[in-house]
Amino acid sequence: MHIKQGDTVEVITGEDNGVRAKVLRVDGHAGKLVVEGVNKVWKHVRRSQKNPQGGRLSMEMPVWISNVLLVCESCNRATRTGARYLDDGTKERYCKKCGAGMGPVGPAKTRKAKK
Ligand SMILES: [Zn+2]
Repeated sequence: MHIKQGDTVEVITGEDNGVRAKVLRVDGHAGKLVVEGVNKVWKHVRRSQKNPQGGRLSMEMPVWISNVLLVCESCNRATRTGARYLDDGTKERYCKKCGAGMGPVGPAKTRKAKK
């Protein structure tokens, strides 16, 4: 996953096209992420012990990672990212438009070979 929790992304398709917002959660296995205020749905909740009122709950549903682009902080555009290795061995994301680094990708990614 090239997008992490806390990143700012731009939605490039669907109802929320063009919206820029923060990534709240990332599900690496499903390839999905939850973006603040994007893909909101009303969840209807039946009255229960936990929720005595019942009613409607607004919540964000996950979107496919391919439906968003990372926003580059340097050039302020939604961009595709590349990955490159720095001289000291750390892997870094970078903006394909302006080439600015966007921080290391998963610091603990020294995990080898598996998959
Ligand atoms: Zn850039």
